[in-house]
Amino acid sequence: MRIFSGIQPTGRKHLGNFIGAIQQYVEGQDRGEPAIFCIVDLHAISVAYDPAELRERLYDATAILLAAGVDPERCVLFRQSDVREHTELTWLLSSVTSHGDLNRMTQFKEKSARQRELVSSALFFYPVLQAADVLAYRATEIPVGEDQRQHIELAREIARRFNDRFGATLVEPELRVPEVGARIMDLQEPERKMSTTGGTEAGTVLILDEESTIRKKFGSAVTDSGREVRRSEDKAGITNLIDILAVARGIDQAAVEREFEGAGYGDFKKAVAEAVVELLAPVRERYAELRPDEVALEAALAAGAEKARGIAAGTVAEVRDRMGIGPK
Ligand code: ATP
Ligand code: MG
Repeated sequence: MRIFSGIQPTGRKHLGNFIGAIQQYVEGQDRGEPAIFCIVDLHAISVAYDPAELRERLYDATAILLAAGVDPERCVLFRQSDVREHTELTWLLSSVTSHGDLNRMTQFKEKSARQRELVSSALFFYPVLQAADVLAYRATEIPVGEDQRQHIELAREIARRFNDRFGATLVEPELRVPEVGARIMDLQEPERKMSTTGGTEAGTVLILDEESTIRKKFGSAVTDSGREVRRSEDKAGITNLIDILAVARGIDQAAVEREFEGAGYGDFKKAVAEAVVELLAPVRERYAELRPDEVALEAALAAGAEKARGIAAGTVAEVRDRMGIGPK
């Protein structure tokens, strides 16, 4: 079982990231041989950004992961750009990536529509870099949220096409999404996913939000005109809150519905807020201790990069050889 996943560098990591991705990382780090987690700064440059900010946000994201329980002694945690093999493999794999497939990616359609100045080709190429991230480690399991299903499918297709054309080299990875919480929705617009870059301010619960802010955001969460705490297709807001409470308390959704039978939405929202406050408080406290020591964060990332390179370099050497690139 080799686990790999990537996360974008930002201090605005939210509850969806926490449930869809970070909790899965913590759970997977002792199962993975190894478990590899990558902070994807090269993906972050596919949309408008500020260079000085990017470094700060990278440390933010690193400290959030460590605070959540990702332990560099039990996994490989590194910064994507420290391992140059990712970019080289991106180009090599682009030769077996269909332009039509990239054109179909919904993340590109959504994110390109939001760009104000430039729709970069990096945004279009993002899934090829992501495939290179995963395939460089011959990962078998990819813990992500539901929104990444299409990109992982493409990575599998790229691996298949490479193997057909050049001989068995790459491993087709399996997607792993959590049973509950694979797609946490924006509290204000529960028809769309909670997002770092695309959501509403009031509907996005940040891991680093103050407790009072978390309470306020849940208090104003959009629900519906009914009064039943029950999961249903036409109750996107309530369904989302039920999922959140189930995950935060580690119980199933039916148990939440039973507990709040006959309760009003106001009381229910308060209970969800308290559970999330409790879930995130230890992470925020630990973050405050870890974040100031950038030397320590840098040292952890450097050690991780060394280990990551040891794996990725072997794959890229083999890919080059199979493709007839460079001397024999
Ligand atoms: P952006 O919207 O700008 O892409 P993001 O919120 O998706 O940012 P990423 O760093 O791209 O953040 O995603 C990190 C991980 O979090 C991925 O595995 C992704 O699938 C997962 N994830 C993101 N949003 C959600 C969500 N709303 N619910 C569950 N998982 C999510
Ligand atoms: Mg994303």
